[in-house]
This record gives sequence, C-alpha cells and structure tokens, in this order.
Amino acid sequence: MQEKIQKLKSDMLVNLKAASSESAIKDVEVKYLGRQGLFNDIMKSLKDLSDDDKRIVGKLANETKKELEAAAEKRYSELEGEKLDAIADEEWIDVTVPGKKPAVGHRHLISKFIDDLEMIFAKMGFSVADGPEVELEHYNFNQLNIPDDHPARDMQDTFWLKDLKKHVLRTQTSPVQIRHMETHEPPIRIIAMGKTFRKDSDATHSPMFHQIEGLMVDENISMANLKAVMTQMLQQIFEDTSIKTRFRVSYFPFVEPGMEVDCTCPICHGDGKLDTGVPCRLCKQCGWLEIAGAGMVHPQVLENVGYDPKKYTGFAFGIGIDRMVMIKYRVNHLRLFFENDLRFINQF
Ligand SMILES: [Zn+2]
Repeated sequence: MQEKIQKLKSDMLVNLKAASSESAIKDVEVKYLGRQGLFNDIMKSLKDLSDDDKRIVGKLANETKKELEAAAEKRYSELEGEKLDAIADEEWIDVTVPGKKPAVGHRHLISKFIDDLEMIFAKMGFSVADGPEVELEHYNFNQLNIPDDHPARDMQDTFWLKDLKKHVLRTQTSPVQIRHMETHEPPIRIIAMGKTFRKDSDATHSPMFHQIEGLMVDENISMANLKAVMTQMLQQIFEDTSIKTRFRVSYFPFVEPGMEVDCTCPICHGDGKLDTGVPCRLCKQCGWLEIAGAGMVHPQVLENVGYDPKKYTGFAFGIGIDRMVMIKYRVNHLRLFFENDLRFINQF
C-alpha cells in the first residue's frame, strides 16, 4: 500500500511539472486529488487493512495528500513567474539606449538678422513701429511726396491690387513713417522692418524682400546724427569696428538732400583685395559697398503729417535687409533664403 502511495505521489509530481497552464494543473489536481481521484481510491481501500496498518498507512496518506496539495499550489505560482519572465523577455526595454532626437528647427537667418537689428537700434533708443503690407496708395506714394508721374508708381514696379482700388503691396517700409508721424508728435525715433514687394527677380532681387526703415525727427536733427546712427549700426551688425561710411548725393522724393550710404567692404575691409592678395569679388575691388538710401526728411513730408518744418528736422533711411544678410553670411543667391532647402538653412 505504501508503495502505491509513493508511486502515485511521484506520478503526480511528474505531471505537475509538465503542466504548462493553469488548466493543465487543475486537470492534474482533479485526476489525483479530486473526489473521484486516484488518491481517494487509495483512501477507500484503507478500510480493508488491519487497525495498525490503517494508522500507519492512513498517516502517510494524509501527509502525502497535504504535500501534493502544496506542490500543486507551488506549481501555480511558478507558472505565474514564468509568465512574467516571458513578458519581460519579449517586452524588455533597454533604458540606457540613447533616444531618437526629434528634429528641432531654428529661426530663419533673416528673422534672426531682423532681431539683431532690432537689438542694435533699441540700444540707440529706437522703438519698432509696424504697418500693413497691403498699403494705400496714399501712404505708399502720395504722403511720401512721390509725384503721380514718378516711375516708382509704374505698373512695371508696383503690385497694384486688382479688386481693391488705390491699394498696393507696399513697395517700401516708408509708409510706416507716415502712419507713425500722423499719430505721434516729435521726438520720433523709430525703425520699421518687414516684407516689401516689387516686380523684380534676379540673383540679388526677389519680388518679395525685406527692408528696414529708420526715422528720427526732433529739433536740431542733422546729417551728423544720420552718419553716427548708420555707422554704429553697420559696425555692430557686421561685428567690425573698422567699418566706415560715406555719403553720395542721390535723389529720393521724400528726402532733401538725399543720399546713398556706402560702407567699407566688411570682407576686404576697404582694401579691394583679401589678405591673400586675391581681388575682393563682393565689392568688385573698390573697397566700398552701397548699403542704404537715406537723407533729411523732405519739409513737404513733415508738412503732410502736420509737423512744422521750421521747427523740426529729421533723417530717414531705408536698407535692404536681405542684401545685408547676403553680405554678412557670404550668400551668393537671394533665392536660397526662400527655397527652404534644409541643406542651406542648417548651415546657419
Ligand atoms: Zn571687398
């Protein structure tokens, strides 16, 4: 009888070990320890034994049954552990692997340059004024003393709005001057920056381009102030304190006198050739670059906005921002700024 119990025990242990699911363990339990199970068959046959044997075998049978019940419990928890191990094997994560870096953009070269200009002018006491890109003829031309027959109004240069009479895409940032002066009294010290539009397209011109406009109006403002502001700005933006400026007489309807502002070439420092002796291509060896249009605000323009031209004087200037960026970063084609080619943009 004892041998039968031992055999049954080892059979059940083997079966438990082989059981690889909860239901398989359950089946083994039912088969051996269930009410109709093999173990109960043995218990039933105990009644045929002598009293002494009954005591000995009965004790062994009870102990064995408890052991087997415990073994089944143990198998359940083993199986739970195996399950977790399998999940861990399948779904493991190496937390030390470097993550995928998301592509992070940065400001466009021109936007950054505009910010830099704003900082430089802010230090000289200029604030930023703003105006619409779709502008009235009145502000874009009339108030700026640009006569009706001036070539700048020509259909060839200006984008006129088809369905909106007397409206243009502003050809310059100068109308912001007028709008600001109409609503403010001197002293005036502003810059206006942004997009401007003309029908023009080649290596250094684009139908959309950026301008910065400066205006300073007060009592006793002279060309000396203009020269100081232009020189300061150019030295700071090109990060070169050796830069000099020179003025050449020119004509713009809204200034008198009007002038072109040149600065010494920031690449060859005015020598016309590089340190290596190679001729400078940027300034075509002359050592100077045309950089801005400027002048003293025309008395008629001051009158147009209700200022007394006998009391107030002022200067104004306009600069192509894109060209300055091209000079500073040695970019040889304007179109590169607007193509959004990452190979270009990521260089800056
Ligand atoms: Zn040069």
